[in-house]
Amino acid sequence: MSGRLPEFIDPREWARTGRQQTGSLSLARLPRLGACLENPTGTATVMLAGDVLPGGGPALTGQASCTVTVRCQRCLEPFELTLRASVRLGVVRSEEAGQRLPDDVAPLICAEGQEVAVADVIEDELLLALPDYPYHADGQCQAADVPAAPTAKRQPFAALRALKSK
Ligand SMILES: [Zn+2]
Repeated sequence: MSGRLPEFIDPREWARTGRQQTGSLSLARLPRLGACLENPTGTATVMLAGDVLPGGGPALTGQASCTVTVRCQRCLEPFELTLRASVRLGVVRSEEAGQRLPDDVAPLICAEGQEVAVADVIEDELLLALPDYPYHADGQCQAADVPAAPTAKRQPFAALRALKSK
């Protein structure tokens, strides 16, 4: 199902009515994310839904995903990475109220009746999904001097064996 995402939404109204919308969002409209990418073109696929937290508070849930081009921090070659963000936001009036939300729910601070820009909400979530140091999957990286991850993971045990043999 696809459609048009509204530019602005009232998250409390969405929570009250259980409204849901799927649509796409141009990456050109996400400048903070675009600044981290090699080629900020394409679209993000977005699903947003008004929801209610177990405690009864209004929430906005959903998913966003997009394929982006980033530069591998090992070999410095560009490569494609799929970002998948899951949206789980409690709609609150203040930072204080946000601190009372469950641990797996992030605050979306917004006054009663205030609308939020869908692009801003989705951009925040996609930025969180973007790794600080993106790099190729093992075996796909051109960097010659990078040890394969399993070797690196085994090193603590090698150190332990060295210790025991003393
Ligand atoms: Zn690489």
